[in-house]
Amino acid sequence: MTKSKKEYHSTTSRRDFMKMLGVGAGAVGLGAAGVSAGGFKDLDEMMASPLAERHLPFWVKEVDEPTVKIDWDNFEMFPGPEGTLFNPASWENPKDYFDIYNRNIASTKKNVQDNVPGLSLKDRALADANCWGWGGRSGADLSAPWAGADVKANPQWEHPTMYYTPEDYGVPKHEGTPEENSRMLRTAGRIMGAADMGFVKLDEKTKKLLWGKITFENVEKGYAEPEKNKFVLPDKDLWAVCSVIPQSLWMQQYTERMSWASSNTMSYSRANIYANRLSVFLRGLGYQAYGGNTESIGRLVGFGVMSGMGEYGRAGILVSPQYGTNIRTVLVTITDMPMAVTKPIDAGIAKFCQACKKCGEMCPSGAISMEEKPFWGGDAAWQAKGIKGWYMDSKKCYDFMLGGEPDCSRCQTVCPFTKYDEAVLHDLIRISIAKAPALDSAIRKMDDVFGYGKEPDTKKTPWEIDPMDIPLYGLDNSRS
Ligand code: SF4
Ligand code: SF4
Repeated sequence: MTKSKKEYHSTTSRRDFMKMLGVGAGAVGLGAAGVSAGGFKDLDEMMASPLAERHLPFWVKEVDEPTVKIDWDNFEMFPGPEGTLFNPASWENPKDYFDIYNRNIASTKKNVQDNVPGLSLKDRALADANCWGWGGRSGADLSAPWAGADVKANPQWEHPTMYYTPEDYGVPKHEGTPEENSRMLRTAGRIMGAADMGFVKLDEKTKKLLWGKITFENVEKGYAEPEKNKFVLPDKDLWAVCSVIPQSLWMQQYTERMSWASSNTMSYSRANIYANRLSVFLRGLGYQAYGGNTESIGRLVGFGVMSGMGEYGRAGILVSPQYGTNIRTVLVTITDMPMAVTKPIDAGIAKFCQACKKCGEMCPSGAISMEEKPFWGGDAAWQAKGIKGWYMDSKKCYDFMLGGEPDCSRCQTVCPFTKYDEAVLHDLIRISIAKAPALDSAIRKMDDVFGYGKEPDTKKTPWEIDPMDIPLYGLDNSRS
């Protein structure tokens, strides 16, 4: 049940708050101030109104007709979006439309050349990137993992691209030091949807984190022949841009179906939107971008470890010092823009996993190893050898979470690192884990005592709470 009118009527704290604002005497005071109270007799009536449930400001009232006059008898239906001015064919003279776009290109060129703050190449590239996914402006090929060579086509109608490159403007590509480039990408990444970012140089070691089907050739630009399962990168200096995609910790307090579907899988959806935006951004700066989407590049946890976004944990997933295991994925985009690399980290997490074992204890399918120490593994066909860690039995996990009703993300929900900042595992605890591993067992016990990381309540759902109390995307109020 949503909160009833009665509950609002008896909520004295709101009334007190209004009094503090000097409007607590009801409509009288408001009237004196020249403000309409929307026909309420007093404050109680105002707060008892159904408007309160909708969270309209108290000075806004619902009316039967909108404040714009409508002649419904003569009201015309519009044929569709193709009839709007977004379609050049709908202009009396389509050339006028293209003239506007050409003026836009010319002014962008001038602004970039004049280095006008806020109208630089990176500003333009970011603006274009954030248009990705809007209507028919996604670019015909951009959503394909290896494509991007031709982002001009608009599948819906003849329309100039929204994704320009420096060549389109006749300006040089963006030039910055690796440090400046990393800083710039972190800013753009946060705006586009990454919680954090790290950067890995591709070398003889880290290239082994790519899918085996990815090869290198002495070509200026990479290419793909998907029908031959062939994906080629240019054999030159390349960096992996590793972007942390958060998921809703808030949503994970609910039933496992809820946390799985609305936290886990929704984050993959957001991740791929983000990845395409990042590709548009990099190309808009004059650089190449490959992959990005969730299955296009290689071992994402591995890149997460090498870029220092977290440590490899018992559950076979990345554990971040800031986000715990509440990371849906680390997306990887390969670029030729020089980046300042970020190194792997040691926050005491892998060591803590030896004492903790909570994810293993709580895993309903028994997929997570309870071995105290990490081990060399990778013997199953769907695993890859090469790390001394806790290899999990993904088959058991899939069987449980995809094979019937349950769904699951419990290993992430229960991890002591997966907490809001104000929770028990605050920075002091994190410092202890990093510096005093002897306390690890005690800290794990403390996590239990404080009641964190319990099995989700199967009866608890978000349907009854006030919708306006739900964090947007479930992300607000977390470190994401
Ligand atoms: S998702 Fe659930 S079943 Fe799979 S490893 Fe995690 S806790 Fe176990
Ligand atoms: S629950 Fe414990 S053992 Fe599992 S990943 Fe988190 S810290 Fe490591």
